[in-house]
Amino acid sequence: MNPSTARPHVVIVGGGIAGLAAAFFLRDEPVRVTVLEGSPRLGGKLSVSEVAGVAVDEGAEALLVTRPEGTGLITQVGLAGDRVEPGTTSSAIWTLGALRPLPRRQFMGVPSDLAELARSGVVSGDGAARASQDLELPPTARDGDVPVADFVGARFGAEVVDRLVDPLLGGVYAGRSSDLSFDATMPALAAASRRYRSLAEAAGSLLPPPVPVPAGDQDRAPAGTRSGGSVFTTLAGGLGLLPTFLAKASGAEVRTTAMARALSPAPTGPGARRGWRLTVGSAAAEEHIDADAVIIAVPARPASRLLAGVPGASVAVTAFGEISYASMAIVTLAYPRSAFPGAGLAALGWSGYLVPAVDGRAVKAVTFSTVKWPHLADATVSGAGPLEIVRCSVGRIGEEALLQRADEDLAAVAAAELEAATGVRGAPVAHRVTRWGGALPQYTVGHLDRVARIRAAVAGQPGLAVCGAAYDGVGIPACIATARAAASQVMDFLGGGRQ
Ligand SMILES: Cc1cc2nc3c(=O)[nH]c(=O)nc-3n(C[C@H](O)[C@H](O)[C@H](O)COP(=O)(O)OP(=O)(O)OC[C@H]3O[C@@H](n4cnc5c(N)ncnc54)[C@H](O)[C@@H]3O)c2cc1C
Repeated sequence: MNPSTARPHVVIVGGGIAGLAAAFFLRDEPVRVTVLEGSPRLGGKLSVSEVAGVAVDEGAEALLVTRPEGTGLITQVGLAGDRVEPGTTSSAIWTLGALRPLPRRQFMGVPSDLAELARSGVVSGDGAARASQDLELPPTARDGDVPVADFVGARFGAEVVDRLVDPLLGGVYAGRSSDLSFDATMPALAAASRRYRSLAEAAGSLLPPPVPVPAGDQDRAPAGTRSGGSVFTTLAGGLGLLPTFLAKASGAEVRTTAMARALSPAPTGPGARRGWRLTVGSAAAEEHIDADAVIIAVPARPASRLLAGVPGASVAVTAFGEISYASMAIVTLAYPRSAFPGAGLAALGWSGYLVPAVDGRAVKAVTFSTVKWPHLADATVSGAGPLEIVRCSVGRIGEEALLQRADEDLAAVAAAELEAATGVRGAPVAHRVTRWGGALPQYTVGHLDRVARIRAAVAGQPGLAVCGAAYDGVGIPACIATARAAASQVMDFLGGGRQ
């Protein structure tokens, strides 16, 4: 225990949403909490800045409301009044030369209504015919974890994989369905697929009952809706505001530009409880911070580096080394509304579109921000009237060469592809390129086993816990859930256990 205070000291390494949420969950505990963030800025993948004078998220921009963790935290830090709901979440797929409706009755791209799939035009006539074989085929055996593409492809054929499932997984993980684990990326469907012969039926069992839609409009109803509203929310000033509020509400000491370079058992005096020592700062200006418990809330690579100094944690070091990351960039473009044909982007009826990798485009997903989030649509540009803001996501796993292009090049590529998809004329009035190196962990085949190995190895270390996007889901609610569990684990160790 730190001699300067009677309260045990908990150090959290990483000031992203997971680390800050862990600090928040410890706010009422009888502990002193320090958060060490290596970069000059808090928030990790949550960040907001202005484009053409409008605050637009650079990283995560939407929060799932079907899990309570994210909305709960927003309420607890006093931001509930800033929540805004999407205008539409009806999404398209840009494929086979047109924007086509993403079928409503699908689960991560796995269709449950094969007639709707055929009507959407997302797959060819042959592709739709092959997909309908799912209803007739004998059960598809699988032994252990498999790539999503293998199982879904066996049921529906390659077109459903390439033009639906792969783009949806690409939107979440920037990964490819040929590598990603069925058990880890679609756990509910993987479990349901063991109960149903048809995968379409398994997907349907996970969807809410169909929402009645006016005749002739069946294929335009938002895919992301549930009875009572949308499944997404954000904050009026950007989701990137959340980290600062969280840090303040946590009451923790939060240090930025405090890169933890090493973790080792602290030297202990006679009878003292074993603790941990963190080495922070440059080799020239090294600082040691002692802690009774440590929560590691950083991506796999830095977590592995820290655990390399912990005797007995080699299994976790190896398993962390097996988790690769996709890098990506978000290109945000602002146009005068008049640059789009007709009445602007809203007239298209979509909140954005996904682009299958097989179509060979650089941009993998596009969000029409001013349509999806109507509060952004009030922005105007001087002399050009109302603005449209468009967010283009570039970079699937393995596309690092594309990301080496200069900002101006990436913006030009994104603008050219947007023109081809939407008919927008002229150059954007403003653009912003945000690069996210090591953005998203890849839950490849065997991920669940890897995570189990990490957790077992860390559980063997007294007062050590891990949390963040590398484990149970990359979405913000899943990250917050791991943070709560990590806070509970260190309190159990410290003898509090009041979580
Ligand atoms: C472009 C993009 C868009 C996304 N969109 C969404 C979305 O709309 N909705 C959604 O739910 N999710 C979204 N995600 C996923 C989600 O944002 C992330 O999975 C989540 O924010 C990760 O949080 P984290 O705290 O685990 O990690 P991070 O955000 O990576 O935070 C880790 C922090 O640790 C710091 N750090 C690293 N090493 C050290 C060290 N040695 N010492 C001290 N500090 C260190 C880093 O600087 C960083 O700040 C998106 C992700 C990206 C990249």
